[in-house]
Amino acid sequence: MDSLLRLLAIHGGQRRTDLCRALGITAQALETRLAALRAEGYVLDAEAEHIALRPQADVLLPGYVLLGLHAAHYGRGEMLYAPEMDSTNTQLKQAAMARALPDGSLAFCGRQTAGRGRMQRVWEDPQAGQSLTCSLLLRPTLPQERLHLITLAAALAAAQALMDAGADARIKWPNDVVIAGRKCVGILSELVFDPVGAPCIVTGTGFNVNQTVFAHELADKATSLRLSIGRPADRVRLLQAYLEHMEHAVATLEAGGLPALLPAYRARSVTLDARVQVIGAAETFVGVAEAMDEEGALLVRCEDGALRRVLSGDVSVRGVMGYV
Ligand code: ATP
Repeated sequence: MDSLLRLLAIHGGQRRTDLCRALGITAQALETRLAALRAEGYVLDAEAEHIALRPQADVLLPGYVLLGLHAAHYGRGEMLYAPEMDSTNTQLKQAAMARALPDGSLAFCGRQTAGRGRMQRVWEDPQAGQSLTCSLLLRPTLPQERLHLITLAAALAAAQALMDAGADARIKWPNDVVIAGRKCVGILSELVFDPVGAPCIVTGTGFNVNQTVFAHELADKATSLRLSIGRPADRVRLLQAYLEHMEHAVATLEAGGLPALLPAYRARSVTLDARVQVIGAAETFVGVAEAMDEEGALLVRCEDGALRRVLSGDVSVRGVMGYV
């Protein structure tokens, strides 16, 4: 990120002379760089000696994500941003394989042109500027075989961020957040190895934010934050809230494993304690989702009394009466 923008976003308003000194540039060069920031879409208060970034609702740009962000690390590493990307996961994975990105590096955009879900499914994002898609590069202190638990932390964090915005968001195991039974968020985590072979996880989260209609195939299955709260929502604040909750959720997982995250997770879950249909490649069965074990697998009590362990990679879970 531009060093001038970073100073203004992290440290707030500054005197021109201090900025010139900190950046080692002339007053004229400062003017040129301020003009470049305005051209990118930033609104600056630059009267006389004092310069500040003026907060703008829903202007999804890196400087505004940093301005007022309360996360200590997430969103403060590298930031990859473009109004549109093919897929934030794809972009962040490529960057992570090419160079050693710090924990909490972020890719985000206002529209994905080739969004991906699990099992080669497509994440639809047809209208520019209506959604928020972000991917985080994480290096959690979890054993490699438990890195997939990050998806559960992301679902909780996304639900909490939507709740902060006024929605009654719930988690559908393992990777969706729903509002009133319709999907508002999809999550995809992918394992990647950095240039020195260290495992990292890239977790992508796609929020439907300001859509007012969905394509025919999704019309009875999808919703947006705006449809849920009845007014447009601020994608910048939503992203900040997600980063803040995610940092907390991952720290909780690292400190105490899934049992430490479970009370908050269970309180928002539509799957735990519900009768569900488990749809696998080979078979479909019905049962009550009694619990989740320490590996994040769902323990489903079947109608014949047997307890079956369901792994997230293999199946789709539905309510017995519909999507949830
Ligand atoms: P499901 O949600 O059907 O149980 P899943 O959780 O495995 O499956 P994902 O991989 O998270 O699904 O997401 C892809 C699926 O989400 C698509 O097959 C489509 O049904 C649905 N979908 C795609 N785009 C959107 C969107 N913008 N909003 C809500 N749902 C979407």
